[in-house]
Amino acid sequence: MTPVPLLDLGPQNRAVADELRAAFERVLASNQFIMGPELEAFERDCAAAVGARHGLGVASGTDALLLALMALGVGPGDEVLLPSFTFFATAGSVARLGATPVWCDVDPHTFNLDLADADRKAGPRSKVIMPVHLFGQSMDMDAALALARARGLRVIEDGAQSMGARWKGRPALGFGDFGASSFFPSKNLGGFGDSGLLVTSDDALAERARILRVHGMQPKYHHRLLGANFRMDPLQAALLRVKLPHLPSYNCARAGNARFYRERLLGLPGIAENRPGAPADARLLLPVDFSGEGIWNQFTLRVPGGRRDALKAFLADRKIGCEVYYPVTLDRQECFRGVGRGAEACATAHRLADEVVSVPIFPELTEAQRAAVADALAAFAGG
Ligand SMILES: *Cc1c(COP(=O)(O)O)cnc(C)c1O
Repeated sequence: MTPVPLLDLGPQNRAVADELRAAFERVLASNQFIMGPELEAFERDCAAAVGARHGLGVASGTDALLLALMALGVGPGDEVLLPSFTFFATAGSVARLGATPVWCDVDPHTFNLDLADADRKAGPRSKVIMPVHLFGQSMDMDAALALARARGLRVIEDGAQSMGARWKGRPALGFGDFGASSFFPSKNLGGFGDSGLLVTSDDALAERARILRVHGMQPKYHHRLLGANFRMDPLQAALLRVKLPHLPSYNCARAGNARFYRERLLGLPGIAENRPGAPADARLLLPVDFSGEGIWNQFTLRVPGGRRDALKAFLADRKIGCEVYYPVTLDRQECFRGVGRGAEACATAHRLADEVVSVPIFPELTEAQRAAVADALAAFAGG
């Protein structure tokens, strides 16, 4: 039996360990531990990577979302349209500013925001739409931007799981007024602690976000705006600069693992693709990269018929890691009781929370490990 962890950060970071040590030594010798050239260099490289004019290193992906909303002046009385099937921070950032999340449903095949539902739920107070490129697959950004234009909405892309993903050749994060990403260790560009990125191509918004990032301070000790401390450490930036050039190869290795699973499993009894028209009796539905340019932050299966938890137990018996992203939709979280609107029509999101499970897809999976995962899934579906 080959044990397979859901994620093993060791091999990836060991491969660049000497460069990481050199980066640490450089920062140590510089004595510059807040802002400065290491951070600016990383910000320039990130902005270039996603085709945006400005990049701001921040303390987390959550802070990137919060800062974007603050820069757009979102507050009490404003509504933000967002998917109810995503990580907490997407809606947490909205609610923390006293604004109202509008819970929208998601598409059962891409797992991304259902724009028809967002259009139905948009109202006169809706100010922002926040598409999430979930599990590494870009939203249809042509359709998202068209809806935003028609409804007069600003756009914040939550690209925490999608740095390097593209939509029709253009990088995710670069379409909206703002793009937010995260370097939490489990993301495709995994850092060494918490940190995140905010990008924009709007000069005035970039300036506003820069000021808000340092307590709304400009010039020193003069505060025109109510900001906070949202800065990324130069040490974190220096370490991430070592890994950023490798991001395309990390993403490519993830895509190779996804291809392996699909080639091994499609056509076997009980297994089909998660796309419209899938056979009703399929026991496992494999994810599809509809954009063709996703980066596979997760390989997320649907297990219909109430058998998801049976698959979890089956994998645990074989020492194969898995996780449910996400078991409770945001509209049903305890802290959001009585918060937001739209939850009555999120049927797909609610169903997915009961059906999904993600299996190992990290770039450094060995041949034996990914074969063990595929064999286990085949045995479950056929058994
Ligand atoms: C990880 C994540 C975030 C938050 O990023 P942190 O760096 O952990 O604060 C926000 N949205 C989504 C969709 C995420 O996956």
